[in-house]
Amino acid sequence: MVAMGEAAYPNEGCGILVGTPGAVPTVIEVRPATNLRQDRARDRYVMDPKDILLAEREAESRGLEVLGFWHTHPDHPARPSQYDADHAWAEYIYVIMSIESGSLADTTAWVLESESPPVFAETPLGN
Ligand SMILES: [Zn+2]
Repeated sequence: MVAMGEAAYPNEGCGILVGTPGAVPTVIEVRPATNLRQDRARDRYVMDPKDILLAEREAESRGLEVLGFWHTHPDHPARPSQYDADHAWAEYIYVIMSIESGSLADTTAWVLESESPPVFAETPLGN
């Protein structure tokens, strides 16, 4: 995941976390996704729905689930933006990597605490 995030710099990289759900969700596979926001690729991301659909199908065939999503903040702190909160779904974990000058500076994980208005709460990174 770190390598994929650093490779996307100076643009935002994004992708999908696949694994086993439960009290302590375990990420088994980290997948890349295409950032469709080429116009504002440095500070916005919109994951290609085809990438998400494919990840869901392949996860299901292996008895796994899509647990959440990761994206990077190039030269910005690893804290969710208002945009991130507005575009988040309640059932997923959101991992944010801060990439400073091309190298990983910080990694955080978030879940939506409430949906309207959307409020993120930080959650510990399991593994
Ligand atoms: Zn963000």
